[in-house]
Amino acid sequence: MSSEQPPKRPARAVKRAAPSALPAPVAPATPHVASALAASSPWAYAPAPESKELALIRPRYGLFIDGQERAPASGEVVITYNPATEEPLAEVAKGGAEDADRAISAAERAYRKVWSKLAPRERAKYLYRISRILQERSREFAVTETLDSGKPIRESRDVDVPLAAAHFWYYAGWADKLQYAVPGRRPESHGVVGQVIPWNFPLLMLAWKIAPALAAGNTVVLKPASTTPLTALLFADVCRQADLPAGVVNIITGPGEMGMAIATDPRVAKVAFTGSTSVGIKIAQGIAGHGKALTLELGGKAANIVFEDAALDQAVEGVINGIFFNQGEVCCAGSRLLVQESIAEDFIARLKDRMSTLRVGDPMDKNTDVGAINSRAQMETIGELVASGVAEGANLWQPECVLPDRGWFYKPTLFTNVAQSHRIAREEIFGPVLSTITFRTVDEAIEKANNTAYGLSAGIWTEKGSRILQVAAQLKAGVVWANTFNRFDPTSPFGGYKESGYGREGGLQGLHAYLRSS
Ligand code: NDP
Repeated sequence: MSSEQPPKRPARAVKRAAPSALPAPVAPATPHVASALAASSPWAYAPAPESKELALIRPRYGLFIDGQERAPASGEVVITYNPATEEPLAEVAKGGAEDADRAISAAERAYRKVWSKLAPRERAKYLYRISRILQERSREFAVTETLDSGKPIRESRDVDVPLAAAHFWYYAGWADKLQYAVPGRRPESHGVVGQVIPWNFPLLMLAWKIAPALAAGNTVVLKPASTTPLTALLFADVCRQADLPAGVVNIITGPGEMGMAIATDPRVAKVAFTGSTSVGIKIAQGIAGHGKALTLELGGKAANIVFEDAALDQAVEGVINGIFFNQGEVCCAGSRLLVQESIAEDFIARLKDRMSTLRVGDPMDKNTDVGAINSRAQMETIGELVASGVAEGANLWQPECVLPDRGWFYKPTLFTNVAQSHRIAREEIFGPVLSTITFRTVDEAIEKANNTAYGLSAGIWTEKGSRILQVAAQLKAGVVWANTFNRFDPTSPFGGYKESGYGREGGLQGLHAYLRSS
């Protein structure tokens, strides 16, 4: 990295007296496309860039409070960057405790005067409308998400945005059927809920949080991550377009401390957080003893277990998807490959072969498999953990791959000869790095899979249905996929054990989190 590159994000704060005098941000340049495949290869693809003009990114964004865009009390802004080019995309308000207070007041008023008084089927109509608008504006959302987060356009287009719309559609269906969600009891909303979301699935995490909250009759104050605020701010526009009553959804951008100000405010009855385990612990400590409801969706170190009878090529695809989807910046990523010793050599050879065909580069190219890492800080975290793997004695392998000369990109990385005590086997890397451990027996596989402080997800690859049932029942993971990986659906609950947090999002269980029942 050259010294001319922008600073670590969250970016510098800039004091602004006259917002209208701000210069327009520099338009992002198209990054140099690179691939693990040589350009001369018969498998090489022609460039297939999506148009960035679809994003309609404004130069500057304020806070969305009480249905209106407002300047932050500080008058300061932060810059959000395109991770694929390291160029500024927009200036975003730097909110603080005072802004959190205003947003919570607006949410409390909207809850008391409007949302809690509305017939449930009327609430449902708003959710259906939001879902429909997300579908109508799906290309704009997909392009904005990719520019701001670095994830491949294929993923934002085919996964993030459709799933976000599906969550609003699914929970719209629950809004007027809450009595069936808690049979024999009386469902009640919490009131104002505070939500803090991360940067790896910015729009999707917003949908996971806002859709069930509104369906259950709550109002919301949501804080997006500082490096990926744009789709949340675009969602504010969707709320306006849907004529959602003012104050029902408030979206405020700002640093982590502002997230804590939201969580600890006495008027916030329920808190939902997705992010690192360390911040999750701080939030749990910050609100302890105040009677608030809390769901925490934190980190993971999932085992993807491949038995010798598995369909190997199918398993290779599942392992690739498990760790390289969204550059591995996924809480449930299959970051530990547990492979049976009898097939390990063959399986690793197949895996290397497949990794050599991954296309790494411009996230806006529709053929890209692995896009940009979200921030320079995250690049450094990945680099530090990979270096620890080498220092501790694991064998590192990366495919021949020329990375773009600008932007935050990391080569798909495979470690073999990994010991369970290595940091790369224990800590969440949150990058395109796979650590391989072998096993001989089913019991050994289960023991090694459970040998982690986390417990979010796991995968099992075998032809035997009975083995799937036997192993899945013994894995301490909230989600266990069998002969597939990273499958998500709004009807299906998602959440963890141990240091992966508690509570569930998605499905009926995700609705329960936003209801009190008497
Ligand atoms: P954080 O947990 O710091 O960020 C997640 C969200 O929490 C962001 O909105 C962040 O705001 C906010 N936040 C930060 N500090 C506080 C605080 N004290 N109180 C309330 N909210 C806070 O994740 P990082 O971005 O630092 O990533 C670090 C590591 O966390 C990653 O390497 C990865 O291992 C893990 N992670 C896990 C995720 C998951 O889905 N489980 C998602 C993201 C990260 P802001 O952006 O303004 O700092």
